[in-house]
Amino acid sequence: SQSKQTMGFQAEVKQLLQLMIHSLYSNKEIVLRELISNASDAADKLRFEAISNDSLYENDSELKIRVSFDKDARTLTIADNGIGMRREEVINNIGTIAKSGTKEFFQNLTGDQAKDANLIGQFGVGFYSSFIIADKVTLITRRAGEAEAIKWESSGEGDFTIETTEKEGRGTEVILHLRENEDEFLNDWKLKTIVRKYSDHITLPIVMKKSEWKEGENGEGGQMVTTDEDETINTASALWARSKSDISEEEYNEFYKHVSHDFENPLAYTHSRVEGKQEYISLLYVPSKAPFDLYDRERRQGIKLYVKRVFIMEDAEKLMPQYLRFVRGVIDSADLPLNVSREILQDSRDVEAIKNGSVKKVLGLLEDIAENKPEEYARFWNEFGRVLKEGPGEDFANKDKIAGLLRFASTHADTEVQNVSLKAYIERMKPEQEAIYYITADTFAAAKNSPHLEIFRKKGIEVLLMSDKVDEWLLGSLTEFEGKKLQSIAKGDLDLGKLEDEADKEAQKQVEESAKDLVERVKAALGEAVKDVKVTHRLTDSPACLVAGEHDLSGNLARILKAAGQ
Ligand code: ADP
Ligand code: MG
Repeated sequence: SQSKQTMGFQAEVKQLLQLMIHSLYSNKEIVLRELISNASDAADKLRFEAISNDSLYENDSELKIRVSFDKDARTLTIADNGIGMRREEVINNIGTIAKSGTKEFFQNLTGDQAKDANLIGQFGVGFYSSFIIADKVTLITRRAGEAEAIKWESSGEGDFTIETTEKEGRGTEVILHLRENEDEFLNDWKLKTIVRKYSDHITLPIVMKKSEWKEGENGEGGQMVTTDEDETINTASALWARSKSDISEEEYNEFYKHVSHDFENPLAYTHSRVEGKQEYISLLYVPSKAPFDLYDRERRQGIKLYVKRVFIMEDAEKLMPQYLRFVRGVIDSADLPLNVSREILQDSRDVEAIKNGSVKKVLGLLEDIAENKPEEYARFWNEFGRVLKEGPGEDFANKDKIAGLLRFASTHADTEVQNVSLKAYIERMKPEQEAIYYITADTFAAAKNSPHLEIFRKKGIEVLLMSDKVDEWLLGSLTEFEGKKLQSIAKGDLDLGKLEDEADKEAQKQVEESAKDLVERVKAALGEAVKDVKVTHRLTDSPACLVAGEHDLSGNLARILKAAGQ
């Protein structure tokens, strides 16, 4: 067996621990939630691995989580008989932060406790939250099927120790040596209340020893004593399989925090049972905050796949398209085989059908928020709008639906806030106006101050101001909405169509005649550098501007491609 080894925490872990202890103290009850959540995940993983290797159960297939305490030792213990961890797994999972988005997280910290508490929540609280109430944590774990057990211990400062040990049952035991003044966690009633409040939705039983009131001698000095009998504290049924009317808002919220590893309540959810060709249940959430790694290609996806209540896999990327990658939740299929692999998911028509149905649910949910709760929708847009803009390019079948959900800045309010829907734009169009006009630029200021806008401002025609990187890609696939063409005001000949009256046209002709000489001289001077020089009517104040050809890349896209090395 290997002797005791001391290892240092990653610098980031140290920083995170300090922040956590100070910023989350007022939420200390969540420690139990986090440890129970991990225990539940560990049971899910074991169940899944055991599908193809049931010797992993080691004659103990009744998966459960046990919460216990020892008043004299002042310890609180959360134990599971789930998958457990090998030595390297302990070191990697508990001693380091390997998460994507770590850098962004640390860059965003402000030093303001309330703000940082929110950031930590978004980043993920997890195992380290133990140190909010414990000044020493001992973790003893044995991986299913292995002989060697591992003991990890730390006081949450600079380092931890790791050594080989013995453990009869498989799984993980987390022992919290409580800080002074945390005696409330040594109270049977209090613990049961916390477990019911935060972890009722956990699918496997959470057990504690039953307590009984024991009368004292002559009916005096009675007290609560712990018996040897187990009692299940939670409902212990899959929340998503219960009927909607039996689930409270709070239960939906707590379940969300478990599946998403998020700290805040979700913005909205949709829960449905689909019957017919494909039978499945979906419970899908829209978070209220974007995670730090929303733009990280390596990040984990948000959907957990179950088959008949058995956990199959996390990050089932086949179940949600990229542009809805912020959606979290579970899908539980009644039809897929239990031994379904990522490869099978890849080209399964059943999975495709489940995905299509789920996407419709999410888009429907978003439409509902947009229509009925505009303020919530504004918050949603702020967090996830740029991701949703990837939609029309990725999901042709739902292009119109997605287009209806998009919001833009425009010359109507002339602010950077993206709150103009294409529908609202169309409602405000001039009677003679035929196209939806837009301009793209690197920044909002550049779009807003573009000389191309002059004639539109003069005539009072609204123009969408687009300055997100993703806008160019969006416009590549979104070319019209409700029969109205989307038209760049910076490309090709400006044809305002019926928006121009006869007098305008007459005046323009005269200007063109009188400027002929000038145009020839400019052409000669610029030579090969330009394709053409024309008299324009799009400007009212500026003397000249650059225009891309009708079929050329826009100036902005050309700049983006150049920056990307293409
Ligand atoms: P998260 O749950 O978001 O991954 P945590 O900090 O809660 O983050 O846990 C980190 C990792 O440690 C988990 O992903 C898991 O691999 C491992 N882990 C924690 N608790 C347990 C447990 N009880 N059994 C097995 N593995 C665990
Ligand atoms: Mg966790």
